[in-house]
Amino acid sequence: MDTVNKDLGKFMNGLVKRNPGEVEFHQAVEEVASTLMPFINENTKYKDAQILERLTEPDRIIIFRVCWEDDNGQVRTNRGYRVQFNNSIGPYKGGLRFHPTVSLSVLKFLGFEQIFKNSLTTLPLGGAKGGANFNPKGKSDAEVMRFCQSFMTELTRHIGADIDVPAGDIGVGAREIGYLYGQFKRLNNRLTGAITGKGYDYGGSLMRPEATGYGCVYMAREALDKAGDDLAGKKCLVSGSGNVAQHATEKLLELGATVLTLSDSGGSIYDPDGIDEEKLAFVKELKNVRRERISEYCEKYPKAEFLEGKRPWGVAADLAFPCATQNEIGIVDAKELVINNCRLVCEGANMPTDNESIGYFQANGVSFVPGKAANAGGVAVSGLEMTQNSMRIQWSAEEVDAKLLSIMQNIHSKCVDYGTENGKVNYVKGANISAFKKVADTILAYGII
Ligand code: NDP
Repeated sequence: MDTVNKDLGKFMNGLVKRNPGEVEFHQAVEEVASTLMPFINENTKYKDAQILERLTEPDRIIIFRVCWEDDNGQVRTNRGYRVQFNNSIGPYKGGLRFHPTVSLSVLKFLGFEQIFKNSLTTLPLGGAKGGANFNPKGKSDAEVMRFCQSFMTELTRHIGADIDVPAGDIGVGAREIGYLYGQFKRLNNRLTGAITGKGYDYGGSLMRPEATGYGCVYMAREALDKAGDDLAGKKCLVSGSGNVAQHATEKLLELGATVLTLSDSGGSIYDPDGIDEEKLAFVKELKNVRRERISEYCEKYPKAEFLEGKRPWGVAADLAFPCATQNEIGIVDAKELVINNCRLVCEGANMPTDNESIGYFQANGVSFVPGKAANAGGVAVSGLEMTQNSMRIQWSAEEVDAKLLSIMQNIHSKCVDYGTENGKVNYVKGANISAFKKVADTILAYGII
């Protein structure tokens, strides 16, 4: 163990030195490296070939200026990025995030995680992430369109169906994908599967909007089943109120669970009666059409309480589904969840739980399923969208849903195979080792490139 800790310390020191100030990236790598180091030390071929060092250096990073004109005729400038992290097992694949907090550190953490997530899906997908420090909130449709067109004018030369296939993420939903793909089509004069998350009428896959949230709940059901438990009647905390949160809530309701909370960057709503289908339809209209704040829920449903500026983790419940953004569960939240007997944390978002809290959950008997396993359903259905585009067909919702379920069950089995220790499943270890092995063996096969 001493050698492992020494090797981990040395590796992390080097990584921090090479990537100064990129705290989110350091955090994501540390989570992976701490579970991989014993495995790498036991399998010296990976150590000798410096696989971890190679995997933590992106293939390339593209940074570009995005100029556009707002509705007042004022020129605006944002920064666009694409981090093409690793394409060993397939074309680069990963979402675009438009949010003021977007930085190189955030996109490197997301792109790095994406390598492992995509490997877990078993589909031929490499890892990437991109976006811009552009805030779509409060912008008119015309402003968002002009921004997307300018962004794609540069991005287009770096992507393609067999090269790099972006999709949505925070701040990039159906509207933005439409504008981005429209500009891609105009510039290239061709319709290809170079972007996923497209509308059904122009080549999108049924179930893509639902896939991340539904997949996350399928994963929770598998984890509960493994522990001899089930979802029916469980009280659930969901954070966020965007794509992932809405569809996780939808599937939880369908499977008989009760959802007590949702949130946005202004705070959380707590509905002691539970958020039913009708209330969820109101949330969808509020967030997707009117693009307003979640606090409005409490005006419409006065029995609900608005927890201003707060996350939902202080509310007593059985299961937690963080579906908003990174680092939304810190140690204080983790302790509250444990005190309230929460027995499963299943991450819909990417890295919503910090590393100290992951350790705390594991030490206190809370099943913890990391985002790279639990939210892989989204990219998996994006992979299925690429397949449908290549085949020039579109599958039915039932066909896609069945494939999604089977992929999530397969990811769960891999976590069990590689992560079981003393009769309990360590999902972080299982996901990391299983995902790493496939990519690492491929890198070895290619030689030193
Ligand atoms: P959306 O943009 O649809 O929704 C994001 C939600 O998170 C909103 O409710 C937003 O609130 C909230 N949020 C964003 N930033 C913050 C913040 N700093 N503090 C508090 N709340 C915040 O994004 P998605 O639902 O698509 O993505 C949610 C998470 O899931 C992200 O981590 C994303 O990377 C991950 N994910 C998404 C996939 C997908 O298919 N969409 C696939 C896999 C992972 P507000 O409206 O106030 O900004």
